[in-house]
Amino acid sequence: MNLTRKSKAAGFSILSNTCLILLKLAAGLITGSVSLIAEAIHNVMDLAAAVVAFVSVRVSDKPSGNKHPFGVPPILVPSTMRDFLLFPLVV
Ligand SMILES: [Zn+2]
Repeated sequence: MNLTRKSKAAGFSILSNTCLILLKLAAGLITGSVSLIAEAIHNVMDLAAAVVAFVSVRVSDKPSGNKHPFGVPPILVPSTMRDFLLFPLVV
């Protein structure tokens, strides 16, 4: 897999969030701290966002070709779809 600098950064975000989840969950369970467990759950959401970002960067990095002569349309990039679906909920 040939990763660009952007893909590597998004991949590092997945790795760091996974580590944070494991560390905070372990610390929360050992100490019985509800706030640390809540933080671990918060990082699960961050991990989901990091996965969407990683896939989006990979899709948007695809070169143009016969199927998409002007590059991948923004609607096919997962982060665009996520924003499109969540925007009405926020407004
Ligand atoms: Zn966060």
